[in-house]
Amino acid sequence: MYLAELTSHRFVELREQGVNTVLIPIGMLEAHGEHCALGTDTLIPREFARRLEPLVGDKVVIAPEIPYGHSWGLAPFPGTLDIPGQVFADYVTAVGTQLVKQGFRYVILLNGHGGNMAALTLVSERLSDLGAVVLSINWWVDYRDLIVEHAPEFGHAGEDETSCVLAIDPKLVEMEYAHRHISEAPKKIRFRGLQKLTYPHANNGDATKATAEKGEAIYKALIPAILRDIEEMWSYTPNA
Ligand SMILES: [Zn+2]
Repeated sequence: MYLAELTSHRFVELREQGVNTVLIPIGMLEAHGEHCALGTDTLIPREFARRLEPLVGDKVVIAPEIPYGHSWGLAPFPGTLDIPGQVFADYVTAVGTQLVKQGFRYVILLNGHGGNMAALTLVSERLSDLGAVVLSINWWVDYRDLIVEHAPEFGHAGEDETSCVLAIDPKLVEMEYAHRHISEAPKKIRFRGLQKLTYPHANNGDATKATAEKGEAIYKALIPAILRDIEEMWSYTPNA
């Protein structure tokens, strides 16, 4: 079920029935190569939520997504809206805090964007301090062993992400602008201008190999893994 579609009355009823798990899809508006939709990092978590809803929607309330995030790495590229990391961390913490105050004891952060990860670690710690059990999922990292079976040339707007967007709607991708690029820039060194050296076409991996079929296979492989992680989360007892 979707939080935004519940009435206040129904919300109280669900709380009395013991429904205490919320899932927040978290994304970004950011250049994804020259070929993939700017909202890719929001579209994919939204798609995971859509596919999870018929399976666990009676126990997991899906909150409205957070579509803006933090991206130092892709900030110089057209279409990226880079929210400062501290502001993003505080905002998501505030949303999560309200959800905990409203009775949720299990919080799933379903993230689609690498630049959000450091901030979401802080968010997870702060919500845990409020007594919640937090499941923090970065899908392309946490389930990479499953992803590489279908899209070995993964990366930002690479084979995996582009395939996942094609599976949602091929109109969201302009495959004629897809590139292959493997970054060799050092991860330990940071300076202004590094971004375009690292990602000359705002992507990493091989987007030219992406297909809707591979995207569909990735969703099919990951949904059971996410369900297992949710079950494991429920095996832990919240503090409050
Ligand atoms: Zn992305």
